[in-house]
Amino acid sequence: MSHYDNNTLIQKLAETHSLSLSEYQFLITHRDADSSRFLTALAADVRKKIYGNRIFIRGLIEISNICKNDCLYCGIRKSNTKCRRYRLTHDEILNCCREGYALGFRTFVLQGGEDGAFTDDTLCQIIKSIKQEYPDCAVTLSLGERSFESFRTLFDTGADRYLLRHETADADHYALLHPSNMQFQSRMQALKDLKAIGYQTGCGFMVGSPFQTPLTLAKDLKFIEEFAPDMCGIGPFLPHHATPFAKYPAGSAELTCFLLSVIRLIRPNILLPATTALGSLSDDGRLEGILAGANVIMPNLSPQSVRADYQLYDNKKHSGSESAQGLSILKHQFQSVGYEIVTDRGDIYHI
Ligand code: SAH
Repeated sequence: MSHYDNNTLIQKLAETHSLSLSEYQFLITHRDADSSRFLTALAADVRKKIYGNRIFIRGLIEISNICKNDCLYCGIRKSNTKCRRYRLTHDEILNCCREGYALGFRTFVLQGGEDGAFTDDTLCQIIKSIKQEYPDCAVTLSLGERSFESFRTLFDTGADRYLLRHETADADHYALLHPSNMQFQSRMQALKDLKAIGYQTGCGFMVGSPFQTPLTLAKDLKFIEEFAPDMCGIGPFLPHHATPFAKYPAGSAELTCFLLSVIRLIRPNILLPATTALGSLSDDGRLEGILAGANVIMPNLSPQSVRADYQLYDNKKHSGSESAQGLSILKHQFQSVGYEIVTDRGDIYHI
């Protein structure tokens, strides 16, 4: 594949928003400091043209760590008997929103394990209450796979967005990350359903997950190109001690930032968070993510008493500037490099 040249590929991507699978693969395999700098500059430029220096924030409320699934990478997997389980009540969730609203959040993300107690009825009551009290806010759900009917009911009740990472766009790789009762096809179908229903839809994947290769990553990028999501969450894989992947190495911040830039060029107006996992890997992680082309930050708005229990991976940060209460630290940090954290729903700009 030596007939490719990285800077030429990057230029082509910036102009056409598309590369072939083997071109993506080449780009990843042959990335170096020079081409990364070129890529980052283009991505930052594109983001600036669309979103200016505005950074959107979301208040992340981790509503339950009870989960029926057993994803091999995840610290709150069903088989982890050491995990102290919790489930927030309707009122606890509303209290988080109240605190978040006062801090300037206009999007609330309800994330959790696949907890059967969150039936459509229960969720609809929560969504209704949030929308009634805060009609100027967006509600994002990130609660795993549900039926088409359920997705539609929640949407009709007022949910605006749904985050469901596809985790990997390679079926064989998916099977290595999940138990056999979890199906790649169902995950992909759920994403299609969400989009068809009308949600602002987000997919995403971990960087450096076990068995990931430049080819599986190239498939992730091609999938993003074709699926055209409104949002995409990517962050490094980080091991959790009580999972089968405890001994696998963490993904790198460098590759995560590289891929953030590539995704920005694939979909210039995409809502792209610099994730908690990236921030947990290094102190400047989220800032580097923003510099690479991300435009969203999701500080933790869960009640202090449960924060340590939503432990997807070891050393997950949830205090200081990772917490919603530490927003002023974040604002200051970002202002000093020319970015403005705004009080806004932060919907996708259509271009
Ligand atoms: N149950 C919901 C939310 C899952 S948690 C769902 O299925 O969508 C949100 C994301 O955290 C997951 O999609 C996964 O990509 C990420 N995650 C889980 N374990 C992780 C780990 N060990 N390292 C990094 N990211 C992880």
